[in-house]
Amino acid sequence: MSLRLKESIRLGKERGMTDAPSPELAHLIDGYRRFRQTGWARRRERWEQLSQAQEPKVMVIACSDSRVDPSQIFDVDPGEIFVVRNVAALVPPFETTPGHHGVSAALEFAVQVLKVKEIVVMGHGLCGGCKAALTQDLQGAEPGQGGFIANWIKMLDEAREPVAAELGTSGRPAERAMEQAAVKVSLANLRTFPCVRSKERKGELTLRGAFFAISDGVLHLLDEESGAFSPIE
Ligand SMILES: [Zn+2]
Repeated sequence: MSLRLKESIRLGKERGMTDAPSPELAHLIDGYRRFRQTGWARRRERWEQLSQAQEPKVMVIACSDSRVDPSQIFDVDPGEIFVVRNVAALVPPFETTPGHHGVSAALEFAVQVLKVKEIVVMGHGLCGGCKAALTQDLQGAEPGQGGFIANWIKMLDEAREPVAAELGTSGRPAERAMEQAAVKVSLANLRTFPCVRSKERKGELTLRGAFFAISDGVLHLLDEESGAFSPIE
């Protein structure tokens, strides 16, 4: 066991970490038991297949927001979609600077190893990350006090300009415009990855922008030519 892990366990114990689950964890464990009794048992064969390999055809990039779970929205089975979730469903541009490029690593795996056919970037309504990008409330915050978020959503600064100029920095019309512009930023950044660009050109990969409106549960698809998001009938 590494020193760091030992130290982490010691600190956890000191702070009252016990074996008894918290009410929050107990709630999850109840769900897990239901899953074992119904979901898992019913699809046992499928899980057996999946224990050999995964072959998802689609990668979904979504927000971490608890209300927009792609598996739930698309009602898919285990093994069907390869998902990355982060604040505001953002894809950073292709960068080779030092750092921990989590989204880029997942993207590389999905495109080059799993060879997904489709990448869906799904933004959503009432997105806190996009709202912060619009208001710039977290600008100047220290890392751990909002600084990580501020730095992450800086990716939206350029897209924010026209939105703020036309619609201001508060209210749903401006927020929704920012949320939808963020999807377009992620699509543009996806295309800065040489492997994505070349596969898209060869017709081996399709990129799609989508937007899930939380209040009415309606999914919209982006028409990149017109720039408009239209609800799915
Ligand atoms: Zn969000």
